[in-house]
Amino acid sequence: MSIKNNIALFKREIESFNCKLIAVSKTHPVEKIQEAYDADQRIFGENKVQEMVAKWEVLPKDIEWHLIGHLQTNKVKYIAHFVSLIHSVDSQKLLEEINKQAKKANRKINCLLQIHIAEEETKFGLDANELLSLVDSGLISKLDHINIKGLMGIATLTEDKNQIIKEFKHLKNLFDSVKARMPLAEGFNELSIGMSSDYKMAIEQGSTMVRIGTAIFGERNYSTSTN
Ligand SMILES: *Cc1c(COP(=O)(O)O)cnc(C)c1O
Repeated sequence: MSIKNNIALFKREIESFNCKLIAVSKTHPVEKIQEAYDADQRIFGENKVQEMVAKWEVLPKDIEWHLIGHLQTNKVKYIAHFVSLIHSVDSQKLLEEINKQAKKANRKINCLLQIHIAEEETKFGLDANELLSLVDSGLISKLDHINIKGLMGIATLTEDKNQIIKEFKHLKNLFDSVKARMPLAEGFNELSIGMSSDYKMAIEQGSTMVRIGTAIFGERNYSTSTN
């Protein structure tokens, strides 16, 4: 299967669900991204700041770059002028730094709050209590250079479909309760869940953005990656 065919198949499969395709291009060379771009894919997800900057520099400027991996506060400045959506905001400190750098860049940056839904301790994200206290703190409405567009989560890596569905349902419930609270309601519409192995379940649970890497570009080869 070619990248072009994979993009076409995914778009056809998800479009009737009002769900967007984020092509996760981390570790893959710019030639492969260009191939997907030529098949009309415009949204790409990367998990490392340096890699995303290097690709942004050489690829067409109408690409929307989404940062999906953990972001350190000291690296926000490298992406603030072009990043289209940060999926992985997991602390108040990071939110404040993004706001500061967005102000410097004279723009607003779209963000998702990453929620920890998996069983693995190693994964990042706010828990439900941290999310609700952040929302209730009123801080978000004070950050003029940030748009909180929704929530993101990564399910446990498991064969147990019931476990995955349970985690997605939990996040959807959180999403609904946060959306019901002002002042976030306006523009708070995105639920970023689902990867190559679990996107069908994610779409059933209301995903608006699936992040697909392997099923589009093939297996990643980390040994030859420079990061
Ligand atoms: C790598 C990655 C993906 C894509 O994973 P695949 O299994 O290759 O589809 C999605 N989301 C995040 C946060 C990732 O780091």
